[in-house]
Amino acid sequence: MKVMIAYPPIPSDKGVPLISQNRQFQWFNRPTFIYPVVPAYAASLLKARGYDVVWGDGVAALMKPDEFKEFFDREAPDVVAIEAKTPVIKPYWKWTDELKKIRPGVKVVLIGDHVTAFPEEAFDHCSVDYCLAGGDFDWALLNLCNHLTRGEALEGGVYWRDPSDGKVHNSGSFKLEHDLKLNPFIDRDLTRWDLYAVENGNFKYTPGTYQMAGRDCWWGKCTFCSWTTTFNNFRSVTPERHLDEVEILVKKYGVREIFDDTGTFPAGLWLKKFCQGLIDRGLHKKVVYGCNMKPGVLKQEQWDLMGKANFRFVLFGVESANQATTDRLLKGGKVEDIPKTMRMCSKAGMEPHVTCMVGYPWETYQEAKNTIDLCKGLFNEGAISTLQATIVIPYPGTPLHREAREKGWLLTEDYDRYDMREPVMTLMEGVRHEDILELTQGIYKSFLTPRFILRKILSVRTLADVKFLYMAGTRVLGHLADFSKKQPARETTAVMKI
Ligand code: SF4
Repeated sequence: MKVMIAYPPIPSDKGVPLISQNRQFQWFNRPTFIYPVVPAYAASLLKARGYDVVWGDGVAALMKPDEFKEFFDREAPDVVAIEAKTPVIKPYWKWTDELKKIRPGVKVVLIGDHVTAFPEEAFDHCSVDYCLAGGDFDWALLNLCNHLTRGEALEGGVYWRDPSDGKVHNSGSFKLEHDLKLNPFIDRDLTRWDLYAVENGNFKYTPGTYQMAGRDCWWGKCTFCSWTTTFNNFRSVTPERHLDEVEILVKKYGVREIFDDTGTFPAGLWLKKFCQGLIDRGLHKKVVYGCNMKPGVLKQEQWDLMGKANFRFVLFGVESANQATTDRLLKGGKVEDIPKTMRMCSKAGMEPHVTCMVGYPWETYQEAKNTIDLCKGLFNEGAISTLQATIVIPYPGTPLHREAREKGWLLTEDYDRYDMREPVMTLMEGVRHEDILELTQGIYKSFLTPRFILRKILSVRTLADVKFLYMAGTRVLGHLADFSKKQPARETTAVMKI
């Protein structure tokens, strides 16, 4: 049996859709491709279990729709699995029908957080054969293929329509109980790691790649985070196994930067062993490392060890500067810890990046501005290197989406518009949509102060710094041009990667 893992292309004047490995969907003006770690595990696991596997990321391969159709027809898979998120679910319903037209016998399987939230919905909109709920796409897809080839009993989380009664049936609730250490290492050649090794603004050193020590976040409570539903049971590999994979990436592929995209990187003893392992194996001299971390978790001593182990880019979701909001989002921690953490992290030599959001239905204009001001202040004092401001979106399946539905906050249920380019929830009285757009765009424009430019020029030490500065500068100027002409009222994601 031949299985294709696919991202059919979605041409749009909004840019490139960032579907894979992304808890919050975005269109990117400049191509940015993030390695789809769990689908890559799916491809690798299927291959290791004897299936013929083909990697079909038409988005990252910059295929046009006709090219993708030809590719699909030529490869002739028996099963094609497509990862979809809410803002692209409608185009992928259309693609499902297209692919079935090209090869009527193919089984189309939809996976991802949208179908985890609404696993029966797709059957009303397209000719999909299966929807797999839950985040262990790798094991779920293997189980489905084993079911189709040799009648293995289906695990929970599989949905299908039975032609005999026309109804959608399912195999019960999904359970994330698979032991991650039973996965093979990702087959980077099979999954075209090169497609994702350069065009990613998070990499200062290329080629870069992604790993995941855990699925997905040991905190796992934030009410807006779509992966809390998709991955509702945290598991991690051992630090030793993770180090073994780093070693392969460095020695076999010449990787110079790795970002671990576990929702929140393991802390405590795990982190200590991992950092010490990087140092003991000499890997800290060959590769820089990055991860997601929560503010308020680590002490200076741990940041220092990470610095010694050559961590560089650390991404923090701060979400809001208002304690009432972070409490309401179940973000955990104290807002006052945010600046302390950023200072400790940068003091240890790392480059913290923060993301924040505005557009909460319960926040006043001043509260939204407080968040933007907190991030700008951290940036101006040099406690963070990069920042990003986006509009909060209530993705289906999240507690925030349920709350928004119950309280009548949803302005639209048109999934195409859940792409962070406009508020889709009501705002507090006195806050206008334009205010939210201005706040997110304003943070972006505020970067180019003489003090900031001087600091960046003085920080240049190596050729990599020069290249990174040049790349980031062109990205910023590209975005600024977009603000002023092409998408004046719609571009709301402000990212500064310097
Ligand atoms: S910290 Fe919150 S937003 Fe970040 S991955 Fe974990 S649950 Fe999601």
